[in-house]
Amino acid sequence: MTHRRSRRFASLVVPLIAVLSACQPAATVPDVAAPAIDSARLLSHVETLASDAYMGRRAGTDGGRMAIRYVEGQMMEMGLRPACGDDLRQPFSFESRDGVVDATNLIAIIPGSGSSEGAVVLSAHFDHLGQRDTDIFNGADDNASGTSALLEIARVLKEAPLAHDVVLAAVDAEEMGLRGARHFVSSGCFETLDVRLNVNLDMISRSQPGVLYAAGTYHYPFLRPILELVGTPDGFSLAFGHDEPGSGSDDWTNASDHAPFHAQGVPFIYFGVEDHAGYHQPTDDAADITPAFFLSSTTFILEALRGLDAQIDDFPKR
Ligand SMILES: [Zn+2]
Repeated sequence: MTHRRSRRFASLVVPLIAVLSACQPAATVPDVAAPAIDSARLLSHVETLASDAYMGRRAGTDGGRMAIRYVEGQMMEMGLRPACGDDLRQPFSFESRDGVVDATNLIAIIPGSGSSEGAVVLSAHFDHLGQRDTDIFNGADDNASGTSALLEIARVLKEAPLAHDVVLAAVDAEEMGLRGARHFVSSGCFETLDVRLNVNLDMISRSQPGVLYAAGTYHYPFLRPILELVGTPDGFSLAFGHDEPGSGSDDWTNASDHAPFHAQGVPFIYFGVEDHAGYHQPTDDAADITPAFFLSSTTFILEALRGLDAQIDDFPKR
């Protein structure tokens, strides 16, 4: 009896040791590589959205609807869930000199990993100017670039979420008066989201000097030291400014989709480049963006989101 018992014990001990020692090396093997921004995917989204087939993506046109379907398709492929209700689409209409324009935002959410309350809205407009006569305004930098970065950052955050919810707001009709962003912030959906910060992307892919601006810290100075701590890739620099009242067209406070958030008192950072030769010209083409800079700016923005996420609970109460 004793003998048998000890043999049994031995037969249990040996596999246990084998299992433990098999586990030992596993703990020292590096983790599977953390998901990172993929340059090929970034460029592919821009090349598609800024191709002639999309006819300049003007809100309410066939090209605009192609852009809606493309962004929606990418969000669905990633398994992103709608931020409100059961539809990624948030349709809206407005009057313009084109008549009544039917437009559509796409609003998804990546739930936060922790118990932190509140959400960051990452926004980018996908519409552009359309066509005039035979000219197609492809809007590669403005703003296929921001839309592409939004999609690629979403792909990474889906795998490695922030502590706070991230709402992905791909908005329509920016070029017709920030219509999509204005609709979103006045919607019932927005009210349910407890938005603490807007990070807006508009023209982030084309800069020969390699300079990306972060506008908004004039209004929300507590955001600046957080951004200053984010590492910058080689050949890339971050600049502050373009947000001082009284500086005329140099003041970008109301220049893009962050403006309606700011009007609601939501702190914002607007990432964008200086105007360039292709700005609102038919020469804003995919071939003219600066791919290395685009990868750097998107990577920087992802890291900035992580830095901001860690500090949101300490933002001043509004
Ligand atoms: Zn524009």
